[in-house]
Amino acid sequence: MTTIPARNSTREWQALDRAHVHPFTDHAALHKVGPRVIARAEGTYLYDSEGEKLLDAFAGLWCVNVGYGRKSIAEAAYKQILELPYYNTFFKTTHPPAAELSRTLVDMTPEHFTHVFYGQSGSDANDTIVRMVKSYWNLKKQPKKKTIISRINAYHGSTMVAASLGGMSYMHELADLPLPGFVHIRQPYWYGEAGDLNPQDFGRLCAKALEDKILELGAENVAAFIGEPIQGAGGVIIPPQNYWPEIQKICKKYEILLIADEVICGFGRTGYWFASEYYGIEADFMTLAKGITSGYIPLSAIMVSGRVAEVLTGMGDFAHGFTYSGHPVACAVAIENIRILKDEKLVERVHSETGPYLTKKMQEFLNHPLVGEVRNLGLMGAIELVKDKKTRQTFDPVGDAGTICRDHCFKLGLVMRATRDTMLISPPLTWTKADIDEWAGLAKQALDLTA
Ligand code: PLP
Repeated sequence: MTTIPARNSTREWQALDRAHVHPFTDHAALHKVGPRVIARAEGTYLYDSEGEKLLDAFAGLWCVNVGYGRKSIAEAAYKQILELPYYNTFFKTTHPPAAELSRTLVDMTPEHFTHVFYGQSGSDANDTIVRMVKSYWNLKKQPKKKTIISRINAYHGSTMVAASLGGMSYMHELADLPLPGFVHIRQPYWYGEAGDLNPQDFGRLCAKALEDKILELGAENVAAFIGEPIQGAGGVIIPPQNYWPEIQKICKKYEILLIADEVICGFGRTGYWFASEYYGIEADFMTLAKGITSGYIPLSAIMVSGRVAEVLTGMGDFAHGFTYSGHPVACAVAIENIRILKDEKLVERVHSETGPYLTKKMQEFLNHPLVGEVRNLGLMGAIELVKDKKTRQTFDPVGDAGTICRDHCFKLGLVMRATRDTMLISPPLTWTKADIDEWAGLAKQALDLTA
């Protein structure tokens, strides 16, 4: 029944890939090796076009929270395609999946969120939030409030606005980014940047960087602050416990809107439905994507707080929307995905069983000569590789050890990602203790080969 031509040859697919596609790739390197062709997946395993099995410790790209091969999700999509494959939520129309999902999301997110706006990706959701933020302050008759503060090493997506929000300099180079009106402050990266400070003092110092920036720019010019509760792509940067409460206070004090980008953290990754619950963040906007459908189909959602929604919905026509905002099939998939997460109690399991077990297994890596620090919250973790454990000296050039280790993982049949020299883990939430044991064995072998 497949509509994909049966080429049956890894080489042919690699050639097509090289000739025609590939995001986030060093093309010169790709031409040397050729991409691994991932042909199918089941549970937590990927199978390449040569039939080799890989343990996916990265849930695709932090997204396949319920694991691969869920028939009930396929059935929900199939049923919806037959019933109503497409209609929009523009111009005084809606449809049952969008309406139902909105209710579900409002019920499961922190209480102050009352409204939902749908997009296709985390990037366009963050883009839309910036538009909402600007509209909000214009409607509040404070049109000077325009600047958005973000953090160095943050990742918020790849559109021009989302990449401007992001703080990765290599994404800014060559594209004339960030756009005007986006500024960045330091990240709360304790292991890499705290020096002799304890976590609490360092958390306070990093939050103070926001206050300093607001005072430098003038609060009357600052519209919003955006942050991932835990920076994901930047290297699973878990902030000190006092960081977010301090940030929250500063945003309130200077009337700055707060945006929590939960694209990775949301839908149970940290052992909480949303990391905002863990840190006590009361954001004005929350960005959701990835785990909302477990990556089975693209969908993003912006949760909007009641106080902001009241202003935005009071303005008449909000001239913004996408053809696929609230796509019925994507919403039907999200509803079934959330049902699975709830019925199988996957978030509770991460919180009380697999998250703590991963912590325990990761601690064992601290004996390894390459490992400087391990950290995780739930099933989102990082292993920092360093040249010298005592001094925390990094490798030169930074990134080499991470790339080598990641390539060893790949050869051993394990998918992990490396940011700089930090190995990242973010598996499906369906993982059991046995999966964690299997992962630990393979990761240890990869580290030994890297040392
Ligand atoms: N925000 C965060 C925190 C992310 O990690 C990502 C993607 O990894 C995005 C936004 C962008 O999402 P997308 O790739 O769906 O555009």
